Amino acid sequence: MRKIRLVVVQDAGMRIHKETLEKIITKIALTRADEIGCETCFAEVDRFVDMLVAGEDPEKVMPLVEHHLKVCGNCHEEFLALLEALKSAAT
Ligand SMILES: [Zn+2]
Repeated sequence: MRKIRLVVVQDAGMRIHKETLEKIITKIALTRADEIGCETCFAEVDRFVDMLVAGEDPEKVMPLVEHHLKVCGNCHEEFLALLEALKSAAT
């Protein structure tokens, strides 16, 4: 009985560890050497949204901004807020 319980606990521990490890690996895979920071993203995001609203492909011109928006929650929120503001201004 005690032996079984111990195995279960060990198994649960392994699972958590594996998930954490996978998260770390995903983060490393998403991290690029030419990554930009929040300041650069913030300076470019206006232009990015402008292009998007104009029906152009900003991710082709500004792939680093696009990448940063994918990995940074703060900048993504800023991006969404800008997008909403521009959309409502256009209509
Ligand atoms: Zn950011």
